[in-house]
Amino acid sequence: MTQQRTRRLGNVVLHLVSDGICWMDGGAIFGVVPKAIWQRVAECDPQNRVPMELNCLLIETCDEVILVNTGFGPKMSPKEREIYRVPESRLLANLAELGFGPEDIHIVINTHLHPDHCGGNTTLVDGKPVPTFPKATYVVQEQEWHDATHPNERTRAVYLAENLLPLEERQQLRLIRGEEHIVEGIRCLPTPGHTFGHQSVVIESAGEAAIYLSDMAPWAVHLERLAWTTAFDVQPLQTVDVKRSIRQWALRNDALLIFEHDPRVPWGRLREEAGAVRVAEA
Ligand SMILES: [Zn+2]
Repeated sequence: MTQQRTRRLGNVVLHLVSDGICWMDGGAIFGVVPKAIWQRVAECDPQNRVPMELNCLLIETCDEVILVNTGFGPKMSPKEREIYRVPESRLLANLAELGFGPEDIHIVINTHLHPDHCGGNTTLVDGKPVPTFPKATYVVQEQEWHDATHPNERTRAVYLAENLLPLEERQQLRLIRGEEHIVEGIRCLPTPGHTFGHQSVVIESAGEAAIYLSDMAPWAVHLERLAWTTAFDVQPLQTVDVKRSIRQWALRNDALLIFEHDPRVPWGRLREEAGAVRVAEA
């Protein structure tokens, strides 16, 4: 099946731009759900890993080009590439295919600062990490930035200075606090639980709505089943509450749902049938 990668929402154009497919431990992705249950929806490889798309979102408005998340990016070591079974970074090649170079991106939004979402923020030049998108302002929640730059024993492995500090050094960082409109019709919405400073991105244009959920619901099944949260979540019960309210909002607005990691369902819409909520492909 060929998936549609570009679509219009009101007056904006949305493109899914993949950095590739990586593979992550199924237990980490499905949290407390036993393998006997999650393997009915996710096939794993011999090392228990399940496929994870790295779908970044490119948003074209009349005046701005906005990139949401940057995948694992180009700086991984061969060992890390083996661990995550991701041979290369595809983000810049896929952007180029759409006709965009790094200098064409005006704004980068990071939903949070785990390496599969912000690894492409920076690129090595002469062995030194510098912002990949030289003209972009990078938008991050202040809480997330604080947590990423003050990691604890549990988060140290996932917050990497090389993805973050060059943005501050080059004065390309914009920290926001809570809900904030970035440009007309595009706003960052705090959706905490996966991390304290996790945010999603809502796009509203000409009466249509979409939301890029990120790790609040990495796969469609995470939105369908409230108890399914990743093992990384720092506040899983908060994720559950947030999902409940986002589901209500999505049903009310018939919103287009964008799943960053789902290898089968990148876009969807919620349907309520006989009291159960499911994601229909859109
Ligand atoms: Zn992720």
